Amino acid sequence: MQAGDTIAAVSTPPGEGAVALIRISGPDSLEVLDQVFRRQGGELLPRRATLGEIFEDEAIIDQVLTTVFRAPSSYTGEDMVEIGCHGGILLAAHVLELVLKAGARAAEPGEFTQRAFLNGKLDLTRAEAVMDIISARTPLALRAAAEQLRGRLGDAIAGVRADILQTVAHVEAWIDFPEEGIDPATGEILSGKITSALERVAALLATADDGRILREGVRVAIVGRPNAGKSSLLNRLLGMDRAIVSPVPGTTRDTIEETACLRGILFRLTDTAGLRDTIDPVEREGVQRARQVIERADLVLHVIDATTVENEAPEVALGDREILVANKCDLLPAGTKLPAGSVPVSSLTGDGLASLLDAMLRETCGQHLTAGQSLAAVNARHKALLESAASSLLAAAALVKANEPPELAAMELREALESVGRIIGSADTEEILGEIFSTFCIGK
Ligand code: GDP
Repeated sequence: MQAGDTIAAVSTPPGEGAVALIRISGPDSLEVLDQVFRRQGGELLPRRATLGEIFEDEAIIDQVLTTVFRAPSSYTGEDMVEIGCHGGILLAAHVLELVLKAGARAAEPGEFTQRAFLNGKLDLTRAEAVMDIISARTPLALRAAAEQLRGRLGDAIAGVRADILQTVAHVEAWIDFPEEGIDPATGEILSGKITSALERVAALLATADDGRILREGVRVAIVGRPNAGKSSLLNRLLGMDRAIVSPVPGTTRDTIEETACLRGILFRLTDTAGLRDTIDPVEREGVQRARQVIERADLVLHVIDATTVENEAPEVALGDREILVANKCDLLPAGTKLPAGSVPVSSLTGDGLASLLDAMLRETCGQHLTAGQSLAAVNARHKALLESAASSLLAAAALVKANEPPELAAMELREALESVGRIIGSADTEEILGEIFSTFCIGK
């Protein structure tokens, strides 16, 4: 299928580089190319790089490599052209300008992938994975996105959908053709089917935390009294990070957020103002902001100075997920008793940091992620749709159990089907009829 118009964009980031890529997609791709490109020998065969020149009013603009893809065998499913020119700052923009003059339209963000979806080349989870791959900031996030692009999540969702579809078909057959002698599914069989679909939905929902951690990272608030060693701990954790350390713009004046990739997981570490009661208005504001950071955090590192008597419980209520970090252990005589459940560390020497990291991963379910287990993890959009599917399935189960008319259960099941279908971008009621006829063999 070819969309109405032909779009084009520079697909590589701006700046100097060896090459830049200009992509064209749509029914007029080859005509557009023809107006700006001259082959230097060789046929313009699909999927073969062809050397040639981009020209403007007979002047040569650049020597380029061009690849043509014919519909439907392309990323978008349409005729496509990729022009690889040199990566000059002005050059790629200039080539694009010529392509636009030749009749293409500037593509909207994500429009190539959107066309790929509309043309059935990718389901929605795979289309989202393309974006996840581009924005991945840790090796684990990249691996998860690559698995999603290969269809791991889309296939799982399609499996759940097929289950529900079959159940709807069963119920609908029961409603529509009772006299046909179709073995009417007993309430028990139906309940069993709904329960098994619910279990699959629940299993997918259970990956939502992982999905958020992989895509957004773990938000960690470092809190404690002034001088407990919060900044030192932050620096020490950042010092362990040899891969990605970058300040996040837009953080408030008195809280510092840094990101670090530790054991493959992205941690967003925020060093907060010291927590204590104060009458100083500026410090008060800092404490107020610290409390906001704590509220939003996935994990709180509560740092205490292990050498002082202030090892008592915090004055403020901290989040559920909290690790008590007994800092400055290098100053303690061997065998000193520490508060129960605390992790002893020295931000000065780095002792105990590995155990602290273990505890951080344990508390935020990052541990099984780093162990390389399943990486099919749903995102916030999938989660919302799965939750609505689960509530429809629960309602359907209750209706079946209460022996209510099958029409009511069918309605709920259709809602569940619709929600799950929207995850992968397909929700076709025609399919339900197809399912009835193929599996129930109504032969008249
Ligand atoms: P914050 O106010 O909680 O951010 O504390 P800082 O990180 O600024 O540390 C306060 C003081 O404690 C500084 O002089 C640090 O050098 C010192 N300090 C921090 N951590 C340790 C540690 O593990 N051992 C020792 N001996 N000193 C530390």
